[in-house]
Amino acid sequence: MQKKQSIAVYPGSFDPVTYGHLDIIHRAAKQFDTLVVAVLNNAKKNPLFTVEERKVLLHQATRHLPNVEIDSFHDLLTNYMNSKNAQIIVRGLRAVSDFEFELQMASTNRKLNEDVETFFMMTNPQYSYLSSSIVKEVAKYDGTVTDLVPKEVEKALREKYNYLQK
Ligand code: ADP
Repeated sequence: MQKKQSIAVYPGSFDPVTYGHLDIIHRAAKQFDTLVVAVLNNAKKNPLFTVEERKVLLHQATRHLPNVEIDSFHDLLTNYMNSKNAQIIVRGLRAVSDFEFELQMASTNRKLNEDVETFFMMTNPQYSYLSSSIVKEVAKYDGTVTDLVPKEVEKALREKYNYLQK
């Protein structure tokens, strides 16, 4: 009998993708047959990048990973999981401060669909301080983000902030 294909979804804002996210993506892609990186389309978060822009940046950063797919969703995550036939949610944990929110999310998702399991991956200590918000803050004030995000993201940040300042 053929083994069931494991399909995992890594949901998030990715506004924009950082080396912290990419570290999780690389590691998760080794564990599952398919990893879908799903950009949450949530205008309430007042994102800097549009969903399309975030997807393009993710595509560029993951093009060397054949089992990684980039997508977006605006629905409830558990509905989206069903539509992708996916059983696993991947989330990253940085500090204790992430824990409370992640526990609430994982418990809610379990309540909504008990076949869906959330897998947590510990941050690479090298990136434990890294978040999209920090990256935006640094770029906004012209600091260097070279060690925090891929080149394409750095370029996109520069363009965005120059554009916003006009
Ligand atoms: P969200 O708004 O859903 O938290 P983010 O794009 O900020 O979206 O994060 C998506 C996921 O990636 C979350 O599980 C978050 O904890 C994880 N993550 C973000 N940055 C890092 C990092 N530096 N190391 C490990 N996990 C991270």
